[in-house]
Amino acid sequence: MGLLSGKTAIITGASKGIGKGIAETFAKEGANVAFTYLSSVEKGQALEEELKQYGTTVKGYRSDASKMEDAEALVAQVVEDFGGVDIVVNNAGITKDMLLMRMTEEDFTRVIEVNLNSVFNMTKAVQRTFLKQRSGSIVNISSVVGVKGNAGQANYAASKAGIIGFTKSVALELGSRNIRCNAIAPGFIETEMTAVLDEKTVQQWRDGIPLKRGGSPEDVANACLFLASDMSGYITGQVMNVCGGMLT
Ligand code: NAD
Repeated sequence: MGLLSGKTAIITGASKGIGKGIAETFAKEGANVAFTYLSSVEKGQALEEELKQYGTTVKGYRSDASKMEDAEALVAQVVEDFGGVDIVVNNAGITKDMLLMRMTEEDFTRVIEVNLNSVFNMTKAVQRTFLKQRSGSIVNISSVVGVKGNAGQANYAASKAGIIGFTKSVALELGSRNIRCNAIAPGFIETEMTAVLDEKTVQQWRDGIPLKRGGSPEDVANACLFLASDMSGYITGQVMNVCGGMLT
């Protein structure tokens, strides 16, 4: 019996990186997994195939998390396909890094739409289902940058800080219905994306972290597993930093 046996989870943006790690960990722990991707149909199908080995129901959906109508259609389809939803992990996110001087209004707005509006969209879309069943766990992927800010990432930091305020408010509003909402703030997580960076720069980042290494998608996925499962049944409105001690 896994920690998520019998539960159905929606994970947004799971075609690669941290989202993929979360989907793998959840399936291993017995969850039925409905995951989304934006453009890479091939990667979505490959992940669907990979996750089938754990013996639970798995399905990928092409869905743009920044669009309310997509979020509503997704939740309706997942409820039809899986018979319900117990967990939502809002992981989809993008960066458009730029010093404020050169940041366009479009760079700012798009990052807010994908990173923050997406969390609002999915929470609104799943709310009725959670209220009806009087249970549910929402895990929002923020960032240490949302906690402490970062030069060159004003748009991203604003979106990730927004997620934290939203998370705490939803926890207060829906706690009486046994719906929990928490956030994870990952630090420097090494993914395909960081693998292309200059090794010397990456090593400098690692050296600055108390645990002396970058995190892995599994490190984030394990925290996510805890917050999604009944193990964290008395925890809501919290931000868990998964950052090797970067924030103390
Ligand atoms: P990634 O770029 O590897 O993956 C992002 C995923 O989001 C992809 O699957 C992509 O298809 C999806 N996505 C993007 N826009 C979307 C949209 N409009 N609708 C649906 N899906 C969409 O990035 P990652 O490093 O795995 O990051 C995952 C999350 O973790 C993001 O929210 C990111 O901000 C956060 N995070 C990452 C780090 C890190 O160091 N990698 C640190 C802190 C927080």
